[in-house]
Amino acid sequence: MTSNYDIEAIRAQFPALKRNIGESPLVYLDNTATSQTPACVLDAIMDGYTMRKANVHRGVHTLSQEATDAQEAARRRVQTFIGADSHEEIIFTRGTTEAINLVAASYSSMLEKGDEIIVTVMEHHSDIVPWQLAAERYGLVLRAVPLRPGSSELDLDAYAAMLGSRTRVAAFTAVSNVLGTANPVRRMVDMAHAAGAVALVDAAQAVAHERVNVHAWDADFIAFSSHKMYGPTGVGVLYGRRELLERMPPYQGGGEMIAHVDIERSTWAELPFKFEAGTPDFVGIAALHKAIDWMEATGIDLIAAHEQRLLIRAEKAMRAMPGMRIFGDAPGKCAIISFLMGDDASSYDIGMLLDGMGIAVRTGHHCAQPLMNALGVTGVARASFAAYNTEAEVDAFIAALQRIHKILRL
Ligand code: PLP
Repeated sequence: MTSNYDIEAIRAQFPALKRNIGESPLVYLDNTATSQTPACVLDAIMDGYTMRKANVHRGVHTLSQEATDAQEAARRRVQTFIGADSHEEIIFTRGTTEAINLVAASYSSMLEKGDEIIVTVMEHHSDIVPWQLAAERYGLVLRAVPLRPGSSELDLDAYAAMLGSRTRVAAFTAVSNVLGTANPVRRMVDMAHAAGAVALVDAAQAVAHERVNVHAWDADFIAFSSHKMYGPTGVGVLYGRRELLERMPPYQGGGEMIAHVDIERSTWAELPFKFEAGTPDFVGIAALHKAIDWMEATGIDLIAAHEQRLLIRAEKAMRAMPGMRIFGDAPGKCAIISFLMGDDASSYDIGMLLDGMGIAVRTGHHCAQPLMNALGVTGVARASFAAYNTEAEVDAFIAALQRIHKILRL
């Protein structure tokens, strides 16, 4: 461990890590699905509900003004966190899924029949299904970039060949939630732009493990979820390039998003409120502010380096196990290990047995069924690491896999 990465001090801030599962201490390795929450974020949630639960942007009273100030401070915090030019480019949503749905519904409504949307085979369903809905509604054509044969990386030649005069949007993940592959985001964005398309980057798996910067990626839209970055659930972010957001029609109608309403027609509020219909999760949004503070104070680069050490330790031991199949071997991959043991053991069996030993991993298709098809499996088990995991936990995980190996007679 590096001296400036005090893992015990970090762990002490996460109440959930003190839990036992049955007789065993919890070893939480399902961080790709959601991360645990530090005390400073929990305190912010408690404070929001206890001291300033009042609707934002609607009241003149003190509580409402405090809640509004906290929400808008969080918007500016997100802006600086990802290096956006303006806080008006930061839209709060319920999560990555809603952020992508917003773009798929709103931006697609400005497209013409026969226009093309490119996604990739490694997308989470939340970056496929919204585009399918839009394709059906507006007569668009949806295409998917495959993996390079025998590889965990995207086939960029196929991507280049797909980009054409009808391509309007390229939507792809920065990091695969199954393979851990970190895609060459800037290169893919540049390729989309060269074809005259806009690029949406799903940063759900990137944002807690690397520095995400709007200008470094040059993306037109970026989506991510608070709950995967040590923040509360129910909050997400859509970054959108201002000139695009200004042209796009509202996604949902209701309070907050209007300038004026008549029975016959309405006019829309300025950005970002045009896209924020209804009462937002203002308590969660204020708590996301604390989660970003926490990540930056801990050090995103230090967290990433720590996770990489755990990844290397775990993968080395796993690759030495007979019958172990690891899915994802791209250079520079994120700290995610998808695996199966032997030919017969299902990911569900592995997950259940690990849970019996206090170890939480994810099982199944991971909301990535097209990728499962490409890999020729119906599901995989997945262990993934976060700031608070330890080498001792990796060793406990490996020892548990060795026990499972014996139990299942693999
Ligand atoms: N995109 C990726 C790459 C993900 O891993 C996930 C969740 O696992 C999502 C999108 C969806 O995130 P949410 O359910 O928070 O909207």
